[in-house]
Amino acid sequence: MSIYLYNTLSRRIEELKPIKKHKIGLYTCGPTVYNYAHIGNLRTYVFEDLLKRMLEYNSYKVKHVMNITDVGHLTDDADAGEDKMEKGSAREGKTAWELAEFYTHEFRLDLEQLNISEPVIWCRATDHIKEQIHLIKKLEKKGFTYATSDGIYFDTKKLKDYGKLANLQNQELRAGVRVDVGDKKNTTDFALWKFSPKLQKRQMEWKSPWGVGFPGWHIECSAMATKYLNQPFDIHCGGVDHIPVHHTNEIAQSEAAYDTPLANYWMHGEFLLMGSDKMAKSGENFVTLRTLKEKGVSSLAYRYLLLQTHYRKQLTFSWDALQAAQNGLEHLYQSAKKLPREKPAMNTTTESEDKIKNDFQKKINDDLDIPSALSLIWNAIKQNAISQETLFKFDKILGLKIYEAVNKKEEPLPENIKILIMQRNEARINKEWDKSDQLRKELEKLEYKVEDTKNETTVTKK
Ligand code: AMP
Ligand code: ZN
Repeated sequence: MSIYLYNTLSRRIEELKPIKKHKIGLYTCGPTVYNYAHIGNLRTYVFEDLLKRMLEYNSYKVKHVMNITDVGHLTDDADAGEDKMEKGSAREGKTAWELAEFYTHEFRLDLEQLNISEPVIWCRATDHIKEQIHLIKKLEKKGFTYATSDGIYFDTKKLKDYGKLANLQNQELRAGVRVDVGDKKNTTDFALWKFSPKLQKRQMEWKSPWGVGFPGWHIECSAMATKYLNQPFDIHCGGVDHIPVHHTNEIAQSEAAYDTPLANYWMHGEFLLMGSDKMAKSGENFVTLRTLKEKGVSSLAYRYLLLQTHYRKQLTFSWDALQAAQNGLEHLYQSAKKLPREKPAMNTTTESEDKIKNDFQKKINDDLDIPSALSLIWNAIKQNAISQETLFKFDKILGLKIYEAVNKKEEPLPENIKILIMQRNEARINKEWDKSDQLRKELEKLEYKVEDTKNETTVTKK
């Protein structure tokens, strides 16, 4: 079945035509490891995980590469300000190396919590200094670079289609944005190599043909993507904020160096908003998976919330929506338990499972229309037209661990809990509502969830 994806580069939906049959090379820009990832960053990684799962569902072998930015990302994307790693190091009293190690580990735990499958190749910027220097030398030889007092820069005026990803040529260049040009020739020129400050020793610095210093932020992705995936490769992803600067500059330097496109498809996930603002690591609206856990919300409930909005639409975060997602996911698990194990018997009103499977694949192949795929699943569940077997197959895309939830062995309840439940049942029979409420609170304090329906009360470990 064909796959259609929105390509930021052409600004339209295109049919996916892989470079190699049955294989996809996928590069996703990874985290800058100076702090925890917030749930906005994680929205982008969930989108990329869905993309990868969809490709695998369609029997592609995906070579997924993700970088770890552990040097060179400055507080200002236009190459000014401090290095985020050095700043984080001062904040936490750890070395920049320890900081990178710590937050890389925490990031991988976040991925695990969200059931995001790991890339085939992880690559750290600091492990690829040689490759980055090699690429800068190549650009220098071809006449695309110049030196200023603080580094080696890429001359964007030398490239005729600079800015094509963001359509910068047709816009008044990031109009109204004040860019500190310094010694740069053009506002859009960007650093390939920055010199260490004269009077200060940086924790992370290397020798280079131009002087001691460190690589610019964009060069790492170009160097590592080409090393592991060749050039061109199939798909390059990131969040929408990467379009005007980071990805624009990756394209400029890679295409200038090798005279071929860097990637054929560029895909971008929209923002998670907090109120009207983008959730940002530097802002106060910083929520991590740890915050969710403290509030008793599971990471998979957050994943379920994300599945309900298309990756190209902004999503405004709210605690109410998250709570509703937690309830929705629980409802999905309970509904899944009641489905037949294998193909359900057909009747005239239900759709055939084969049609449902076909429709499901069409939706996910249609630029990852997961929200529609989800409503298709709910419809099928309501009609009892879907088996557990098929739902588990669909969950290869959703990643909600439905199989585990259905097959979870319920631990027997401890004696003290059984006694509290009995007392509460008695109170309810006697219509002693205060007493029954009191006993519910006691059970909840002991981490047990109490749910009353018309006919029964269920008590489960939280
Ligand atoms: P960083 O660690 O800052 O380099 O960002 C990691 C990823 O998160 C990048 O792909 C960003 O585009 C993405 N990102 C940053 N903020 C948000 C947000 N509020 N919503 C969704 N994605 C974001
Ligand atoms: Zn990148």
